[in-house]
Amino acid sequence: MFGKLILGSAILSCSLFGANEVNIYSTRHYDTDKKLFKMFEEKTGIKVNVVKAKASALINRIKNEGKKSPADILITADAARLYKAKTDGIFQAINSDILLKNIPAELRDEDNQWFGLTKRSRVAVYKIGSGIEKELSTYEALADPKFKGMIMVRSSNNAYNQSLLAAIIAHHGEEYALKWAKGIVANMAMKPKGNDRYQVKSIANGIGKVAIANTYYIGKMVDNKDKSQAEAVKKVKIFFPKFENGGTHINISGGGVVKTAPNKENAIKFLEYMASAEAQKLFAQGNFEYPVLKGVKTSDLVSSWGTFKADNISINTLGKNNAQAVKIFDLAGWK
Ligand code: FE
Repeated sequence: MFGKLILGSAILSCSLFGANEVNIYSTRHYDTDKKLFKMFEEKTGIKVNVVKAKASALINRIKNEGKKSPADILITADAARLYKAKTDGIFQAINSDILLKNIPAELRDEDNQWFGLTKRSRVAVYKIGSGIEKELSTYEALADPKFKGMIMVRSSNNAYNQSLLAAIIAHHGEEYALKWAKGIVANMAMKPKGNDRYQVKSIANGIGKVAIANTYYIGKMVDNKDKSQAEAVKKVKIFFPKFENGGTHINISGGGVVKTAPNKENAIKFLEYMASAEAQKLFAQGNFEYPVLKGVKTSDLVSSWGTFKADNISINTLGKNNAQAVKIFDLAGWK
């Protein structure tokens, strides 16, 4: 009788609290993440389940699933998407000393609803021997007519570009941002097409002279089984532009705990682990990103690209200016 009771309550607690797991909805498409999830599983015994899709699809899915959503964490690869998820009411504020200590204030949400986990900079890439690097200076100057027919950059529906324009708005206002976007459109080597790697491959192959791309893609192209990428990237080099009154544009990949998270404690443990020295090292080494945690070294390849001064505007601003950036891209005719 007593045995039966214990068995009964064990089954009950199982069905009430579910398995020891955490459900991650992620837009990140990198192998490093798989390794990180495995390391977390081994360390904590918490099983990681992953749903991968584009940010807008994941945000809509969480909304549609409502209170029954299994999502504990939403991870995106851009600050503006995190900001959108926050304004859509998807996240909850998290009080964690570890997250506050490990992640600098300018790389996390003002209300602690999302946290930057890795940094990337958006830079200019040029062909070695083209001589064009002597002309490179600021982001602003890329709109100068001297670069006519030379710029390779992807479409304006891409979040990385939206955040770059959001930073231009933060530095100079909307009117200037429109002028700048029009200048870039006038300087494009072709109508925007393809991803960041496509832009880099194009300049390596003589189409355009300056590509705008995120730093880690250069690392991923070096470290690639696809010969066309590995060969192309040997022909190019990174230049770190600055804003006239700032530094090099920084974006983050990060995440937050979903408001309806069924495994909230596990979700917090997961974010804390991602901000730990062990995970930060793998982000930096494995995916050629920049760690958010001070004292963690970048990979040798990333270090070889040189150092730069990060821009001073808060990542929060990229989200706040996103709607204006999208409007301005439209007005500028940036496809
Ligand atoms: Fe990416």
